[in-house]
Amino acid sequence: MSTSFSLSHFLRGSFPHGIHPPENKHFTAGKPIERLAFPPQLVLPLSQHAGKPSVALVRKGQEVVRGEPIARADGFVSVPLHAPATGVVKDICLMPSARGSMIQSIVLDVYPGDPQEVLYGTEVDVDAMSPAEIMQAVQDTGLVGLGGAAFPTHVKLSVPEGCRIDTVLINGCECEPFLTTDHRLMLEQAADLVAGTRILMKALGAERAIIGTEENKLDAVAAIEAVLSEGDTVSVKAVQTKYPQGAEKMLAKALVNREIPSGKFPSAVGLGVFNVATATQMGQLLPLKQGVIERVVTVTGPGIERPGNYLVPLGTPLRFILEKLGFEGSARHLIMGGPMMGGTVSSLDTPITKGCGGLLILNEHQLTTEEQMKRFPCISCGACVDACPLMLNPCELGRLANKAQYETMAERYHLNDCFECGSCSYVCPAAIPLVQYFRVAKSVNRTKAAAS
Ligand code: SF4
Ligand code: SF4
Repeated sequence: MSTSFSLSHFLRGSFPHGIHPPENKHFTAGKPIERLAFPPQLVLPLSQHAGKPSVALVRKGQEVVRGEPIARADGFVSVPLHAPATGVVKDICLMPSARGSMIQSIVLDVYPGDPQEVLYGTEVDVDAMSPAEIMQAVQDTGLVGLGGAAFPTHVKLSVPEGCRIDTVLINGCECEPFLTTDHRLMLEQAADLVAGTRILMKALGAERAIIGTEENKLDAVAAIEAVLSEGDTVSVKAVQTKYPQGAEKMLAKALVNREIPSGKFPSAVGLGVFNVATATQMGQLLPLKQGVIERVVTVTGPGIERPGNYLVPLGTPLRFILEKLGFEGSARHLIMGGPMMGGTVSSLDTPITKGCGGLLILNEHQLTTEEQMKRFPCISCGACVDACPLMLNPCELGRLANKAQYETMAERYHLNDCFECGSCSYVCPAAIPLVQYFRVAKSVNRTKAAAS
């Protein structure tokens, strides 16, 4: 079977298949970004990005100021870490992560009453910098994909031999239900977003950039257009509201009608793809040579009293955020990210990291309903096949997973193309947790490959 798109399926401004889950953006879409107070303590995992963990530059008992580098990158596919607050290093030790494992982390006691000004950084003229200098400066900021992937941004600026990037795509679709971080950034910080987009274009040598959003965010289109000029090389376009419109392959199809081949990066078809939050922080931090120390997080759902879009220092424990915003419950009520691609949280002591743009808080009723849901055998209805945006066969993949035929899943049914969007699980009337099966299968295959 082929995973490529058929042109006959192509709809203008969209992609074939996909689903329409309830958007549930109403909790926070109208709430401007608000800064949350600094917690008394921050927990900063040295591994909050894809690639090698950072290496601590500080020791226990050392005073640090907000913005100061506290860990360095360990090689090219790695990024440094900066102090999100002025305070003192309490410890460097293993601390819990969202998925339950323990990760080496810098624990920082925040000085109460400190004005928390960013004292690090120097103004630089980005226009005078070469693409190579920009790439180094981007690594120095510690920027990673803030849409969730947390892949170091500077690595994406390194164009593979033989490729040429003509177009930068900025993903502002935010198709994940409930989340509104990118929507608010486009509305409130459009100038920084466009400035960051221009830096990305310069670094990649691209002639144009398109900021893509969905038709349910036309106010964001207006906000961005207001900071563009006539005939600008940066443009903004709204595409159909559909899940998972924000995935790289779907966005490339919808915005420029290019197909990213199986197993390839967007650079293979002349594209560089970045998230709105990443481009916005690029526009803010790079001209000042400052590091990533905070991010906007949508805290939402029926289980929280004051849902909103909050600017929080990295390392803020979830417990602190939830107590401030009115929450009575436990970690089992939380999903880190959105309902489609987010994950459960093992402890309220888990900190906010660079890739975390949302916290969904369920109420007791939703939990009970979910726990009472029973799983049935596959009835071969084909709904999952119709939903998969990559034209995979989740039904067959699920059957093979049940028989632990993980290698066949990869070799014959393109398991590795699956980007775990969850559309198949969402539509399955038998409530078969297909995407969980696929995660397990990939993990087993990875472990086998590493051992061989
Ligand atoms: S989770 Fe994978 S198999 Fe399921 S719909 Fe998404 S891409 Fe297709
Ligand atoms: S949606 Fe569920 S029940 Fe229907 S074919 Fe797919 S796995 Fe089977």
